[in-house]
Amino acid sequence: MDIGLFLDRDGTINEEVDYLSSPHQVQLIPRAAEAIREANRLGLKVIVISNQSGIARGMFTEEDLAIVNSAIYRLLEQQDAHIDALYYCPHYPGGTTPPYNTECDCRKPKIGMLRRAQEELRIDLSKSFVIGDKISDIQTGNNAGSASILVLTGYGKNQADLVREQNVAVEYIARDLYDAVQHIKSLINRKSLSLS
Ligand SMILES: [Mg+2]
Ligand SMILES: [Zn+2]
Repeated sequence: MDIGLFLDRDGTINEEVDYLSSPHQVQLIPRAAEAIREANRLGLKVIVISNQSGIARGMFTEEDLAIVNSAIYRLLEQQDAHIDALYYCPHYPGGTTPPYNTECDCRKPKIGMLRRAQEELRIDLSKSFVIGDKISDIQTGNNAGSASILVLTGYGKNQADLVREQNVAVEYIARDLYDAVQHIKSLINRKSLSLS
């Protein structure tokens, strides 16, 4: 069983742009590629989990999303950083566009995307990490029995206040994705986390 590094996309890997829908808007967060490359080297499975309710809201299509994702992959690959898998939730009950405007089991903080990774990639959720810039990312990790890390990029700074106010358990608050991966690396070095 592998350890998963479940990464939110917007505000965690690439700069937050509301309802990012064009490859021209894609910009990586500083040191994000370096962080992912390091996670690859540590043998962690890097899995993107992304809520994309813009599809249910009729703002862009799954095809548009695929083009944006390819642009992100391309920028990462240029720096030798590799994503092992990507899951997204296109749903939103209040949306306008069938068949996406419905309840589902994958919209974070629900854990449907992690369950799929658990089965398809043989991931041990109890040893895995969920990293994101929103309280819903933190809750996703907690709901899955994984460790949650909040990054202060994207919406992270104001979400940190919410995490505190609502007393949501969080393993670590990181400056950015790179800092988060350094934290995990130190857990591995201190043998608080075993890779096998
Ligand atoms: Mg985000
Ligand atoms: Zn969904």
